[in-house]
Amino acid sequence: MRVLRVALEVPVAKLFDYACDATIAAEAGDRVVVPFGSRERVGVVVESVEESAVASARLKPVTRLLEGAPRLPADWLEQMRFLAAYYQRPFGETVAGALPPRLRSLKPLPQRRKAAEEAAEGAAGRFVPGPAPNEAQRQAIAQIGAALGSFATFLLHGITGSGKTEVYLRLIAEVLARRQQALVLVPEIGLTPQLESRFRQAFPDANIAVLHSALEDTARTHAWLDAAGGHAPIVLGTRLAVLAPLASLGLVVVDEEHDASFKQQEGLRYSARDAAIQRAKLAGCPVVLGSATPSLETWQNARTGRYRLLSLPERAVPGARLPAVRMVDLRRERAEHGLAASALEALRARLARGEQSLVFINRRGYAPVLACDACGWAAGCQRCSARLVLHAADRRLRCHHCGAEAPIPRACPTCGNVDLRPHGRGTQRIEEALAGYFPGARILRIDRDSARRRGELARTLAGVSRGEGDILVGTQLLAKGHDFPNLTLVCVLNADSALLSTDYRSAERLFATLQQVGGRSGRREQPGEVLVQTRFPGHPMYLALLRHDYAGFAAAQLAEREAAGFPPFVFEAALRAEAKKLSDTMDFLRAAARLVPVPEGISVYDPVPHVITRRAGYERAQLVAQSRSRPALQAFLAGWSAAIPAIASRGIRWHIDVDPIEFD
Ligand code: ADP
Ligand code: ZN
Ligand code: ZN
Repeated sequence: MRVLRVALEVPVAKLFDYACDATIAAEAGDRVVVPFGSRERVGVVVESVEESAVASARLKPVTRLLEGAPRLPADWLEQMRFLAAYYQRPFGETVAGALPPRLRSLKPLPQRRKAAEEAAEGAAGRFVPGPAPNEAQRQAIAQIGAALGSFATFLLHGITGSGKTEVYLRLIAEVLARRQQALVLVPEIGLTPQLESRFRQAFPDANIAVLHSALEDTARTHAWLDAAGGHAPIVLGTRLAVLAPLASLGLVVVDEEHDASFKQQEGLRYSARDAAIQRAKLAGCPVVLGSATPSLETWQNARTGRYRLLSLPERAVPGARLPAVRMVDLRRERAEHGLAASALEALRARLARGEQSLVFINRRGYAPVLACDACGWAAGCQRCSARLVLHAADRRLRCHHCGAEAPIPRACPTCGNVDLRPHGRGTQRIEEALAGYFPGARILRIDRDSARRRGELARTLAGVSRGEGDILVGTQLLAKGHDFPNLTLVCVLNADSALLSTDYRSAERLFATLQQVGGRSGRREQPGEVLVQTRFPGHPMYLALLRHDYAGFAAAQLAEREAAGFPPFVFEAALRAEAKKLSDTMDFLRAAARLVPVPEGISVYDPVPHVITRRAGYERAQLVAQSRSRPALQAFLAGWSAAIPAIASRGIRWHIDVDPIEFD
C-alpha cells in the first residue's frame, strides 16, 4: 500500500501520513483532501512512500485528489522547505500560506479556458520596444542577457528615471523569446498602475498575470493558475508573487529592491527579495535587483562581489537632469503653519508658471496630538501606549496603531478646559494651510485616508499625471514610481523626525524616501527642485542628498554599522512576545533566553519593551539574537524555536522574525 506524506496547515513542524489506495493517483505536489480530527482538510502531498512509522491499521485513507490545478513542482516544494527552515515556520503553514485562499479550500477551482486558449496565452507575441537604449542601458542589457540560462545576481543601480524599467522590458523580451517566463516583483501594484500599463504596451499580446493580495479571490486564483500552468509569460506582482510556482522561470526582477514592503510582517516573515534570489538559484536563472538607493545589505554584497553591479548614472530622457536639492534652514526661517517663506515662494512661482508641486509630509491626519494646554492632558488610545491622531475631515480621533476611534471631546476630561488644541501637523492641516495661502489653487491631498476605496488612488494619480491639481499634499504613497511630467517642485516638511529615531535603519530609509520623492520632479525637460525644511541642514544624510551621493552615504552608513556591530555585518533574529501584562511578556522572554545553551559565536541580548509598548491591549517586548555567521545563527534558531513552545503559557503570543527590519 502507498503512503502519502501530507503537509497540513497546522502549527506543528511535521508531515502527516495517509494511506492512499490504487484508485487515487496522487503524487508529490498534488493537493488532496484528508480527514483530520473531526473534519476534512486540504493538504499538499510532499512525498509518496512505501511505509509509515504509523501502524497501518491506524493510518487514515486519503479522501480524494483535488483536480484543476497544475501539480506543484519539485523546485517549489524545495523552496517551501527552504523558507520554512530559514524563517522558523512549520512546513505545513508555510505551504498553506503560499497558496491563494481558493487553493486551500474544498471548493472547486474556477474553470474558464480550453486547452487551445491556454496554449495561445502562453505565447508571448509581439514586443513593442521603447526608446533605443543608451550606452549604460546597453551594457546592462548585454551583461544580464549573457547570463540568461544560469544563476547570477545583479544589482542594477540606477537613479530615478535612468531607464531601469526599459532595461527590464528588453530583457524580458529575450526571456520570452526563449519561451520562458519572467517574474517581476514590485513594492505595491496599486501604487504603480503606470508600470503595469507600460508592461501591457510593451507586450500587447501577452497574458500578464498580476498577483497581489488586494485582488478578489477569483482574479487572484486565475492569475496564480496562469502563472503555475505556464499560461502567463509574465508574472507581475507584489511580494507574494515570489511564492507562485512558475513552470519555466527564466528571469526574476525585483524592482525597488530596498523597499520595506518586500518583508512580510506576519505569518511566514519572509523577505521577498531574498526569496527571489533563492528562487532564481533553484531555477538556474539570473535575478536583477533594481534600485536608486539599494538596501545596505545589497550594496555590501555588490561591493564584495557577491552580486554583479551595473550602474545607470544618468537620467534617460535627453536633457532631463536630477533635481537641485536645497535645504531650508528652519533655525533662520520661521515656518508659519508648517511652511517656511522660501517654500511658499517656490510654490507661488510654480503656480504662476502652471507647473505642479508636491508637498511631502509623512504623517496623515490633521494633527498627531490633541492636548489641553491648561493641564497637560493629551488624548491617548485606551489600548495602546500611543496618542490618538486628530482627523479633522470627519471630526474623529483615531489610533494609527490599533484603529480605535473616538469622538473629539468637548472639554478636557481632567480639568474641564474647553480650549483643546492640536499640536504638530499632518497632511490635512497642511492642506488647510495651503488653501489659506493659495485660495485659487487646486490642492489635492493623497494619503491612505483620501484613497480608501479600491481603484481610487490609481484614478487620482492618473489625473495628476495628466496635469490635474496644482499642489499635491501627500505621504509616502506619492513617493513611489509615478511619473508626473509637469511636476517641478517637491517640498519636504517633517523629515527631521526620522533622524531622531532610535532605529539604526531610519537614516537609510529616509535617504531612500527623499531620493525617491525628489525623483518625482523634473522628469522631463523642465528642471526640478527639491526643498527640504530642516533644523539640521549640515547633517551628513542631507549633505549626501544634496550631492545625490548614494555611494558616499552608503559607505558612511556601512562604516557605522560595522563599528556598531549591526547588519549587514552581523545576522539577526528577533524573538518577539506579547501578553496582557508586561511582566508576563518579560518573564517569558527571560526564560526563553536561558532555555537552551547559547553556543560560542551567538549573542542573545536582554529583552527590551517596544517603544510603543502596549498595542491593542497587549504589552510587547523583544530580544535579539545575533551572530557573524548565518549558518551558526540558523542552527541555533532551529533548536531554540523547537524548545520555546514548552515554556509559552497560554496568555503569551510569540514569534521569531529572522532578518528583522522593524523594531518599533
Ligand atoms: P526608471 O525605471 O529607472 O525610473 P524608466 O525606465 O521609467 O526609468 O525611464 C524613465 C523615462 O525615460 C521614461 O519616460 C522612459 O520612457 C525614458 N527612457 C528610458 N530609456 C530611454 C532612452 N534610452 N532614451 C530616451 N528615453 C528613455
Ligand atoms: Zn486639561
Ligand atoms: Zn490604539
